[in-house]
Amino acid sequence: MTEEWTPSSWRTKPIAQDVKYANKDHLARVTDQIKHLPPLVTPAEIERLRHHLTRVETGQGLILHAGDCAESFEACTHRNITNKIGLILSFSLVLLWGARVPIVRIGRIAGQYAKPRSSGTEIVNGKTVTSFRGDNVNGISPDDREPDPGRMLSAYFYSTTTLNYVRALLTSDFASLNHPRTWSLKHVRSPTLRAEFESISNALSDALAFTRTVGAIGGVDEDAYVKGGGRGVLGEVDFYSRCPFHEGLMLDYEEAMTRFLPIPAGTSSYTTNPQALPPKTYYNTSAHFLWIGDRTRQLTNAHVEYFRGIRNPIGIKVGPSMKDEELARLLDIVNPDKEHGKVTLITRYGAGKVEANLPGHIAAVRACGHPVIWVCDPMHGNTHTSSTGYKTRHFSSIITEVTSTLAVHAQEKSRLGGVSLEFTGELNEQGFSVTECLGGSMQLGEEELELRYQSYCDPRLNFEQALDLAFLLSDHYKQ
Ligand code: PEP
Ligand code: MN
Repeated sequence: MTEEWTPSSWRTKPIAQDVKYANKDHLARVTDQIKHLPPLVTPAEIERLRHHLTRVETGQGLILHAGDCAESFEACTHRNITNKIGLILSFSLVLLWGARVPIVRIGRIAGQYAKPRSSGTEIVNGKTVTSFRGDNVNGISPDDREPDPGRMLSAYFYSTTTLNYVRALLTSDFASLNHPRTWSLKHVRSPTLRAEFESISNALSDALAFTRTVGAIGGVDEDAYVKGGGRGVLGEVDFYSRCPFHEGLMLDYEEAMTRFLPIPAGTSSYTTNPQALPPKTYYNTSAHFLWIGDRTRQLTNAHVEYFRGIRNPIGIKVGPSMKDEELARLLDIVNPDKEHGKVTLITRYGAGKVEANLPGHIAAVRACGHPVIWVCDPMHGNTHTSSTGYKTRHFSSIITEVTSTLAVHAQEKSRLGGVSLEFTGELNEQGFSVTECLGGSMQLGEEELELRYQSYCDPRLNFEQALDLAFLLSDHYKQ
């Protein structure tokens, strides 16, 4: 018999990647305060995303998960957020142009402040210190590594500020498909990339003008034309990176943000029995979508226990150590009713390991009859240290993982429903993008990594490298 779930039932289970706070009273005060603060997202938005995900599951859309490995409080600026959103919009436009299906954009933004680490300690300047776990746990400075519960409260407010600005950007002209060039290509140095992007945006402006005319003449329902499932205004982006998305790692925080709320009227349950929907249920109101990391997905541990009780759609990272039968059992636990649009499996094996792992995982999911969306994360299995000492990724490994994943899905008559990427449109004062990943059309070399390596955690593709990947994917879907 399944044990009863509550927002705190995870507390009785072993906690992987646990954070030990010295001052428990302070922790209790903070979580109590967070419990009384307003939700960041609403049940109606969460249900709407679930609805869009059911469509991706049946091949009527693609997911773009993208953003920073770890956000930092310091990087929460007008300029950074604008550039990040601009890149997500540009990427999705290129993808949309090739794939011709709605793109569900989900940003690793407004809450991605905590990180799992492979070791509890690290060496900084020759001294062993507690590992940096993200701004909502401790500080990047080696002298500030004691976990501080007060940082969770700051994370709540930084998330709120970020989300507020993202929502504002997306309802302004900035997100209008009618003039995507405002998404700033100024700093893209490659003339080929600029020309390709400009030709897509010109073609799109023409298409929108034409559709508007047809709509005006024929009374066509404009909403039907808005890619991404629109708000009803032709040419506006219905932007799911107002769908914040983060790893559900800090369960104290996630529990405090879990609220028992009415299921909005008109929600279909995506189950075989819509009548079985309760009037109220538990929503995690810190993000529309959360994921379980590859390091916290143990079947009998705290994270899986927490995730099995929330109504939000969830992601699960699937690495090469996942056994086929373990994956099937995990799905039974988090989605016992086999609801549609609920689970996205995010595979991240490493470039050379896709063929050995993905076919077995696809077969296991098929055999147990669980509906899932498959997404490829070509970043996390492809990290290495450069000869100059930087944690980096090579563009060619990222491409290899994506192309192998596409090939295996095709061979297994399955479908890749999207990609999960770490990239940033962040620019420095002089307008240069970051130098954290190697290769791409700009052929970034090892000696350039030190120029603008700004990541607090994993290396991110910069604007040009991200667009390279977008064109590659777009071309694949065009065929
Ligand atoms: C991440 O997405 O930043 C991450 C740590 O991923 P994974 O759990 O797949 O290693
Ligand atoms: Mn990462």
